[in-house]
Amino acid sequence: MSEFSTGLSKSQIERLSLLLEELGEAQQWIGKILRHGYDSYDPTNQRQGDNKQLLEKELGDVLFAIELLAATDDLDEELIDDHRIAKARKVWQWLHHQGIGKKKYTERHPSIMEGVQP
Ligand SMILES: [Mg+2]
Repeated sequence: MSEFSTGLSKSQIERLSLLLEELGEAQQWIGKILRHGYDSYDPTNQRQGDNKQLLEKELGDVLFAIELLAATDDLDEELIDDHRIAKARKVWQWLHHQGIGKKKYTERHPSIMEGVQP
């Protein structure tokens, strides 16, 4: 009887680990923002920036990790983008406070929102 293997190479495991780590770091700053606000910062380390800046940094790290997974063909970048567009077109019915958000998103991405109920 053979032992189960995920079939993942060491480099694939490393790339997924990087994404997992960066998602966790982004979650940490989202939690800080929900508890203390965007402008709040760690008073013991003001030089690292406020919560908004730190979330922006970690989301950039997340985007890089996704790009690396796509560049190495672990994940299909076109399918990820298809899912992004599908989400943008259908999520509004489940959001209760995004009137301005939907308007601004539509202004920034008119081709994606073409045909979506205003
Ligand atoms: Mg990071």
